[in-house]
Amino acid sequence: MWSQLSTISGAALLTACLGTLTVIAFAQHASNKELGMTVMEGTGLRYSRSGHDVTRLTDEQVAALAESLTGEEAAVILRKGTEAAFCGNLVDSKRQGTYICRLCGLPLFASDAKFTSGTGWPSFFQPVDPDHIGEIKDASLGMVRTEIVCQRCGGHLGHVFDDGPKPTSLRYCLNSISLDFHVSDDDLPARSQPVETHTAYFAGGCFWGIEDRFQQVPGVIDAVSGYQGGDADDPTYKQVCSGDSGHAETVRVVFDPKRVTYRELLESFFTFHDPTQLNRQGPDVGTQYRSAIFAADDDQLAQARAFVEEQKKTERFAQRTITTQIERASPFYEAEAYHQDYNARHGRSCALPTE
Ligand SMILES: [Zn+2]
Repeated sequence: MWSQLSTISGAALLTACLGTLTVIAFAQHASNKELGMTVMEGTGLRYSRSGHDVTRLTDEQVAALAESLTGEEAAVILRKGTEAAFCGNLVDSKRQGTYICRLCGLPLFASDAKFTSGTGWPSFFQPVDPDHIGEIKDASLGMVRTEIVCQRCGGHLGHVFDDGPKPTSLRYCLNSISLDFHVSDDDLPARSQPVETHTAYFAGGCFWGIEDRFQQVPGVIDAVSGYQGGDADDPTYKQVCSGDSGHAETVRVVFDPKRVTYRELLESFFTFHDPTQLNRQGPDVGTQYRSAIFAADDDQLAQARAFVEEQKKTERFAQRTITTQIERASPFYEAEAYHQDYNARHGRSCALPTE
């Protein structure tokens, strides 16, 4: 039998629904570290795969949101209580829509992943985005379970067990009271929407290094290695390496303009490589290693040109000529999988000169 307690009878919880909660466990509010979050070095920012800002809220922000909670909600969400089985208002709901965090609004589960577990608690076999759910080892009640929390606010949701249905074989066991339900994405509040993103493209030598550096910039959501500025469609690394295709090793940077501006990305780019080296960066020689900015729109084009003109007048470039090409973005082709996140996977990448 499925239950929130997994291995022992949930009889103690099957109390009558008296409008009160059966609180089975208390624990301190989990810190970012306990949640196992991979917060970007030095930034404190984090974005999920689906493009939501899941930066961990501060204790002050959580406290402000918690003011809207009822006593019962606070007992579950903040103090890790459990609502009595078969009492939550979402247990039997089969309506199509999205379940969001009651406290912070982060989308957590979709109706198409909901199933009838018979446990008395809303059950799902997968979250809308694995980055939205934090897992914490819970050794309360004389057993080891995996508590699930909202990754953004740390609010308690329930537990996850490995006795769920296909395709995941997981059972996310939720408290109804930890969730709000919305019938369509259109009626989701602003705080439940993915961040609005912009895209920029930079070529500055070996893309392993440039990609890694941009991934460290606060406000950058994703950096991907690829090829741009050449002739052939969908080129391979071998073609690009030969120099015949005309592509440059380029990094596509998806960013949150509310956190970092295009101008700031340009400034970072000029610290990540040496824009005076013509068709090379250090030991990497060839047009595929040229310095280039591929502007996504007219505004970026104007900003990039103005930035480079400004840089020409600085002391850094008083005796040297900037070779960076600036042009409108042509099709960007993602590089082969083994080039992606190279530095993160191997702990090293190519050396990039900065002077
Ligand atoms: Zn939340």
